Amino acid sequence: MATPVAIAAAVAGIGAYALYSRSTSSASNTAKEPFASFGFHQLRLQSSEPINHNTKRLRFELPDPNVKSGLSLTSAVLTFSFPNGGWVPCIRPYTPTNDLNEKGFIELMVKRYPNGRQSTHLHSLKPGDRLLVAPIKEISWTPNKHPRVALIAGGAGITPMYQLVRGILGNPADRTGVTLVWGVNGDEDIFLRDEFETLEREHPGRFKAVYVVSRPGDGSKELRGHVTREVLEGAGVKSGGEGDAQVLVCGPPAMEKALTGSKGLFGSAKTGVLHEMGFKGEQIHRF
Ligand SMILES: Cc1cc2nc3c(=O)[nH]c(=O)nc-3n(C[C@H](O)[C@H](O)[C@H](O)COP(=O)(O)OP(=O)(O)OC[C@H]3O[C@@H](n4cnc5c(N)ncnc54)[C@H](O)[C@@H]3O)c2cc1C
Repeated sequence: MATPVAIAAAVAGIGAYALYSRSTSSASNTAKEPFASFGFHQLRLQSSEPINHNTKRLRFELPDPNVKSGLSLTSAVLTFSFPNGGWVPCIRPYTPTNDLNEKGFIELMVKRYPNGRQSTHLHSLKPGDRLLVAPIKEISWTPNKHPRVALIAGGAGITPMYQLVRGILGNPADRTGVTLVWGVNGDEDIFLRDEFETLEREHPGRFKAVYVVSRPGDGSKELRGHVTREVLEGAGVKSGGEGDAQVLVCGPPAMEKALTGSKGLFGSAKTGVLHEMGFKGEQIHRF
């Protein structure tokens, strides 16, 4: 389900439930995987730790410590807060970054934006605080449907890509090749570098990560600038033939627009860097 549609559906269903759930600890059936189907859950924050200058890792307990979340590739959770104690919720999606097979918790990596309503709220949470969440499906991943895919992320838009890369490479039956291009502001924003380098070592020739830094520090060895056609081609991203059958994009609005352009009559990308490179609208998914 596309994120805006999911948010609209969640808004429609939240009214009475929000009132109820704000005064209770958990509304779930603890025997079931809580996010296997749509429903609202109050999760307790177990820990919160900074991982760089503007990003925190938040671990939330699931209702049953022995049960998986039930999230599938690729899914996110809608988070709800009620600014100033009001009735109009602030709703934003975040993609869990822990292994989906782990039991008892989900982890979010949340980048804080200046004046960002939800990211500031999430950064302010203390262990023991609770957060109202509901699952949303992004794309249904089918192993081996495509020989190769390209993932393009900007900033914290890396989290859906990280979930997907781990899911693909962690499935022995899936042989899909993956190229990841991640654009960030500074070198310190590449907060999943170790994880991606490990995956590159474990899957040589099948997974490659390329970083592009718009404001690199002295001595940075990364590419400098934004995610352009030149950068994508240099990383090996290409359409047609042996190229990438699908391109997934998640980043700040300006980056997504530059890459995928404006939507055409039937949702196809008609302009933008990816269109210029020969990708058709149906090959491009924008989170
Ligand atoms: C499918 C999906 C998964 C996501 N997963 C994550 C995740 O795991 N971790 C995470 O940190 N974020 C994630 N996001 C982004 C997240 O949903 C929020 O958009 C983000 O946290 C900003 O919300 P806010 O309420 O704090 O900011 P707002 O109050 O909405 O905006 C405040 C200011 O921040 C700027 N801003 C807002 N969003 C962005 C952006 N993405 N890039 C640059 N500037 C921005 C706005 O222009 C504005 O000036 C995801 C988004 C999608 C669509």
